[in-house]
Amino acid sequence: MTVVEQQTVDERLAWVERQYWIDKDVALAAAQDWLAELGPGEHGALSRRLEVQVASIMTRRGDPRQGAAEVQNILRWAEGHGELALQSRCHDVLGSIFELVGDRALSLEHAVATNDLLDDSELPLMRAAARLTLADALGSAGSFDEARRRYNEALRLVIDDPETSIRYQILNNLAYTEYLAENYDEALSAVESLISLSALNDRPIGMYARDTIARVYLTAGRAEEAAATLVAALEAKPVDYHPDSIAAALVTLAETYRELGRLAQAQTVIDRCQELAAEHGLVRWSTEATKEQAEIHAEMEDFRAAFEAYRSYHAQSIALSASENEARGRILEAMFQTAESRRETARYREMAERDPLTELHNRRFVDEHLSNLLSLLREGGAPIAIAMIDVDHFKRINDTLSHEVGDDVLRTLGRILTKAVASVPGAIAARLGGEEFLLILPAHDAATVGALCEKVRLDVAGHDWSPIDTGLRVTVSLGVALAPDDAATSSSLLRAADVRMYVAKRDGRNRVVHAGA
Ligand code: GH3
Ligand code: MG
Ligand code: MG
Repeated sequence: MTVVEQQTVDERLAWVERQYWIDKDVALAAAQDWLAELGPGEHGALSRRLEVQVASIMTRRGDPRQGAAEVQNILRWAEGHGELALQSRCHDVLGSIFELVGDRALSLEHAVATNDLLDDSELPLMRAAARLTLADALGSAGSFDEARRRYNEALRLVIDDPETSIRYQILNNLAYTEYLAENYDEALSAVESLISLSALNDRPIGMYARDTIARVYLTAGRAEEAAATLVAALEAKPVDYHPDSIAAALVTLAETYRELGRLAQAQTVIDRCQELAAEHGLVRWSTEATKEQAEIHAEMEDFRAAFEAYRSYHAQSIALSASENEARGRILEAMFQTAESRRETARYREMAERDPLTELHNRRFVDEHLSNLLSLLREGGAPIAIAMIDVDHFKRINDTLSHEVGDDVLRTLGRILTKAVASVPGAIAARLGGEEFLLILPAHDAATVGALCEKVRLDVAGHDWSPIDTGLRVTVSLGVALAPDDAATSSSLLRAADVRMYVAKRDGRNRVVHAGA
């Protein structure tokens, strides 16, 4: 790929990720189209960045089921490949998922990781987004001062970026955090910044933000302004005008009318909210509306109806938290299953690379490991040595004692070889098949390797084999070869070691043969 094409991919990716903060529908379609364009097969970090964007949008739209497990897998991949930017984005999505399922500690942990893994060379928008995530997590955890600091950092990063919606989001969340912290003056000042920003850029404020504004006005005793804001919002139909945001605004509006003593209007609004919630299955808002209904009845001094409404609110809120718990359980289960299947895969792979009789590495593992080491060597890596080991007159053990005794001998040899390599960093013991074994050793120099092999020979010959059969004696012959001195490819290196092992047999067995011998 040329430098120009590479830039184009990076630029296009930056554009797709930026759309997230301009129009989420465009962002979703752009990511999905590009994924379709790439098609199946391995596309490295690029396809994964796009998949994370899709998961991120779905999660923030309240549907994290598929995303949770998928993003976890992508995170493992990114960690294995040192893809920091991808890791950061995965943590961002996982943080929102845990926020959604109500696990504040894990949500905060992921939000911190999102920031830690983000490079200073990342675009300011991305850094601001990570700051925003962290601020939200800190605010939810009740660390309002820490949250405020991050919101302000995020704002500074995007102060010159009028095209995206991120500043509105930051100011909205800051206002809401101040509202939760009961800092009504600060909440009001964040709300005022939000309004003047919108006026300055001639950009309408979204429904949720207007709801926040109205709530802040309401607590500031400015109920008329709260009502005006909400009525205007419902008429203006801004970008995020959808059933959930409308229902939220209607609950606040009913509360506002009630505060103003306009009880008939409050009742009309709450009826409309209940209808909308029923039509779209918005359990949360029908619950909130029922609570407000009880307040309205009480205000009208219809205490019997107020009591009934309270009772129904109570039942609804229990059902709501049960269904939220159930959703939470399903997400956690999906995440758990992924972790589980990853462990299973690792276990099966490990099993596929082991010899069941001796539990040493098997031929399959040797082939892969050896060729990896040799290609590293060609790229300037460390030299290696191998020792081919064959049991002397093994057939006799089988024939005179039994096949079972033969197996016992092989198992014991497995333990002796495991012990021999345990003290040598990077050394591997394997069973190639039958009564043939192989050691792969870091080759400091021929003499050190020779001494190590000599020790293995003595360990076998000097072992007390009597527990297997009285008077049993076992010896081995070893042939040593070095890479790159003797050979540089797997097959020729194995052949060189094999030839020397046969020289050891010919010369009387129970000996080591290497280049110097
Ligand atoms: P040499 O010193 O020349 O190596 O003589 P040897 O008897 O060890 O050589 P040979 O290759 O003739 O015999 C190897 C024997 O190992 C033959 C085979 O029956 C036995 N063998 C191979 N795999 C196993 C196994 O898994 N268990 C047992 N008990 N025996 C095995
Ligand atoms: Mg043999
Ligand atoms: Mg043999």
